[in-house]
Amino acid sequence: MIDKLLIANRGEIALRILRACKAMGIKTVAIHSTADRNLKHVQLADERLCIGPARSTDSYLNMSRIIAAAEVSGATAIHPGYGFLSENADFAELVERSGLIFVGPKAQTIRLMGDKVSAISAMRKAGVPCVPGSDGPLDGDEDKNKAHAKRIGYPVIIKSSGGGGGRGMRVVHSEAALINAINLTRAEAKAAFDNDTVYMEKFLENPRHIEVQVLADGQGNAIHLGERDCSMQRRHQKVVEEAPAPGIDEATRQYIGERCSRACIEIEYRGAGTFEFLYEKGEFYFIEINTRIQVEHTVTEMVTGVDLIKEQLKIAAGLPLSLQQDEIQLRGHALECRINAEDPERFLPSPGQITDFYSPGGIGVRWDSHIYSGYTVPAYYDSMIGKLITFGENREIAIARMDCALKEMSVEGIKTNISLQQSIMQDENFKRGGNNIHYLEAKLEG
Ligand code: ADP
Repeated sequence: MIDKLLIANRGEIALRILRACKAMGIKTVAIHSTADRNLKHVQLADERLCIGPARSTDSYLNMSRIIAAAEVSGATAIHPGYGFLSENADFAELVERSGLIFVGPKAQTIRLMGDKVSAISAMRKAGVPCVPGSDGPLDGDEDKNKAHAKRIGYPVIIKSSGGGGGRGMRVVHSEAALINAINLTRAEAKAAFDNDTVYMEKFLENPRHIEVQVLADGQGNAIHLGERDCSMQRRHQKVVEEAPAPGIDEATRQYIGERCSRACIEIEYRGAGTFEFLYEKGEFYFIEINTRIQVEHTVTEMVTGVDLIKEQLKIAAGLPLSLQQDEIQLRGHALECRINAEDPERFLPSPGQITDFYSPGGIGVRWDSHIYSGYTVPAYYDSMIGKLITFGENREIAIARMDCALKEMSVEGIKTNISLQQSIMQDENFKRGGNNIHYLEAKLEG
């Protein structure tokens, strides 16, 4: 097993990783910026090192300082969490070249999957259902591009191969607007991602977002752990996630899950990963793979009983997968509400000191968070301050428990989106389940 692990992240996920390490007897090294001395995991870690000023570029994104911190502390592995350097192939490569274990896939896998055109082509080859599209980059041949769009059918979406975070894409409704849209997206992609490769897909008008969790050991074994529905989004940001996805039956789950596991074996995937799909009219359409642990991994843990961070660490240590597909049985239903330090009406971040905090509890309630009474939420980072997760024998019970827990929780001194989450839990359409990715925004505007 790994002897000592450096946690290259902050906030709730750093604490989540620390907890897994403690339970496994792995020593921990916390790194932090000057703004994060008071983080919970920094206080609880076996060792702590301040690696730079508050700005992420000077600390959590500073590769050489993180490697130096691992060397100074004698850590033998680095867990990148999510965000920051978690999907940076250069970082993964640097970690391994420094003789350390990167808790994640090989650098070449991260690079291949970070480029959407190559990811889609690898997935198509492996038998994963993809969105009908240009099947490769668009060149400057206008007639060919018009022919692509005609074959696919309008509306189409022009996307950047190097894009991310919902940026660098443009929907086109008619041939008259096509060429201009391709040129504009290409210019934007060049400026934003230093990569002017663009491609075309059918634009799905009312899809749901459904994703499949996988674990693979890079030694020929892979399993899937069912799906999550993350359709409750605002500006491409997930707000509520759940597992399983409402209305997905066991046969469908096995069909899509097996395709994902098979693709993992084909591309020699190693670690935890998520295949993201748009789901419309009973069909799955692959959009991207996230080569890291995700924020919403918790709901999968609740319904499968599998500790995903622990599995990541075992795989990173070189152990073959200990779980077989038939050992993965889904039980009950889990929901996750992201709790953000933000104004619930205008969605502006609301950093500052938490003067008083009361944590919810009771049967089926899990609270993954680093906050406490007196903690100051810095202005420099993501506004998420915790994840409230509930479990129930069925969806209705999980929703009722969430509603209760949200009412119980109190965070004083800063604004939070707790009231928004309550209104979602009480929404009749949400209670019915299966809404598409536009539902929440439409509700907020209405
Ligand atoms: P990013 O890496 O920037 O998040 P994705 O490819 O995951 O890019 O797409 C982000 C979001 O854009 C999706 O969740 C979906 O809302 C929308 N989107 C992307 N492709 C399509 C498509 N073909 N049809 C409809 N919506 C799409």
